[in-house]
Amino acid sequence: MERPENEHVFDYAPGCKERKALNAELDKLSSNVLDMPLIIGGKEVRTGNTGTVVMPHDHGHILAQYHKAGEKEVNMAIEAALKAHKEWASVSWVERVSINLKIAELIAKKYRFLLNASTMLGQGKNAYQAEIDAACETIDYLRFNAFFTSEIYDLQPGSQPGIINRFEYRPLEGFVFTVSPFNFTAIGSNLNMAPVLMGNTVIWKPSSTSLLSNYFLMKIYEEAGVPDGVINFLPGSGSLIGKTVLSHRDFGGIHFTGSNETFDGIWKNIAQNIKMYKSYPRLVGETGGKDFIFVHPTADPQEVAVAIVRGAFEFQGQKCSAASRAYIPESLWDDINNRMGGMISKITVGDVREFSNFMNAVIDENSFDNIMSYIEFAKNSKDAEVIYGGKGDKSKGYFIDPTVILVKDPHFKTMEEEIFGPVMSIYVYKDKDFDETLKICDQTSPYALTGSIFSKDREALNNACRILRYAAGNIYFNDKPTGAVVGQQPFGGSRGSGTNDKSGSFLNLLRWTNPRTIKETLIPATEFTYPFMKEDKCH
Ligand code: NAD
Repeated sequence: MERPENEHVFDYAPGCKERKALNAELDKLSSNVLDMPLIIGGKEVRTGNTGTVVMPHDHGHILAQYHKAGEKEVNMAIEAALKAHKEWASVSWVERVSINLKIAELIAKKYRFLLNASTMLGQGKNAYQAEIDAACETIDYLRFNAFFTSEIYDLQPGSQPGIINRFEYRPLEGFVFTVSPFNFTAIGSNLNMAPVLMGNTVIWKPSSTSLLSNYFLMKIYEEAGVPDGVINFLPGSGSLIGKTVLSHRDFGGIHFTGSNETFDGIWKNIAQNIKMYKSYPRLVGETGGKDFIFVHPTADPQEVAVAIVRGAFEFQGQKCSAASRAYIPESLWDDINNRMGGMISKITVGDVREFSNFMNAVIDENSFDNIMSYIEFAKNSKDAEVIYGGKGDKSKGYFIDPTVILVKDPHFKTMEEEIFGPVMSIYVYKDKDFDETLKICDQTSPYALTGSIFSKDREALNNACRILRYAAGNIYFNDKPTGAVVGQQPFGGSRGSGTNDKSGSFLNLLRWTNPRTIKETLIPATEFTYPFMKEDKCH
């Protein structure tokens, strides 16, 4: 296969036809209340135990009513996945790749605006953030993984005259549990489609706050020809679904993205059940981040200010890669602060349908309360000062102003813990303490997902990169730490940030295959003795 190109990103500038098409979908979805079933073995299932999907920027507005899975439906889904496994595991990889490419094409051409609009309304993204996630990244995952699959299948062991050796790339035995977060539609898609591409069948537990777009993904999979039971869509309580799934003998692996708290609980549960399983399950989990921007005295203040504002506040800081702590040398602080302050004063926060808003609402009330509690903590501390923002209002939507906290202590709570909201903490260091502060940056937080270093001095970049070797799985020179592109910057971090299986690369796909080595001898031996056993006539 040819290596694909990344999907073109539309800009939705005033007057363009994409903007018109997107607005039409926004209007349609906003004036409807969808009744969303579970989908098990290709059949719609309605349990009557329902929840609602609302707009984060207008939480009184209901977009959908969804049915929640109970234990009975989880067991039905497991049965459906195991039944589908028999056929799907034997389908040629070329056909699986073809379905993958068809899904990508359907999203690119037929459902782009539906998927973007549902991500905007249900997950609180502006038009551009939805385009780079729901459309482009989803498409890129599908096309690049198809390409990586063709390369993996090409990798075969060596053979000898008279002997043929080969790998049979089997899927895992059993089913895969896919658990997705609210913040990226593309991640929801990839958590399913990566194992499915390698021949697995899955039970999908989507986040309750990304259901609208995730349901449309499921409908697109069906239209593209993913057979019944290969993906089983199960909204509902994570702990209830997880309990049944993780205690099943045929549980083969988990593909997870979300918080550490959830992943740690799942891992412990799996460990307790280990004797119950047929195979050792594959555990792939990408979790939290406390991503940094580290500035050297040779950096350009304007470039740094833009990286802070975009990196920390786009999508309200709800990216695992969002910049949430920065280390700035004293000599540049006033300049960077003035530029950053000027930019922040121009940011408006509001409805996703008003395209002038750079920021929108955070995802839900729990998240709003959690973020505000960090801001209040900083306001009440003598070791920190809230220099921009600091206000929130949840009366209509969950709005929080872009907030910057200046800290005196580099280990201040907001420098260490993931807040997952529009809050940037800044520590100003003395220029001479560059190396010392790099060490503090490395040892401050349990996470190691992304980070950037700004400098015009190559030696300083290299030095920082060395000291921060294990501080980030994705490191950026002179760029913000967000915006990884599939096929260009394979994504994932270690330490507390996850198993670092690099989604968007062949490394992730390898976790979903269980290779079997097959040796064929063309003419088998007919004597059991070996030449060395014969009498030596030379002596
Ligand atoms: P979350 O942990 O609250 O939820 C993730 C998923 O787990 C949801 O579908 C939820 O319903 C499910 N869940 C909850 N309890 C469960 C249980 N006991 N058993 C099974 N499933 C359960 O995370 P979130 O708020 O949706 O996402 C935000 C988090 O995700 C942040 O910490 C962020 O850093 C992380 N994230 C990481 C990456 C990465 O690549 N490292 C990417 C995106 C998001």
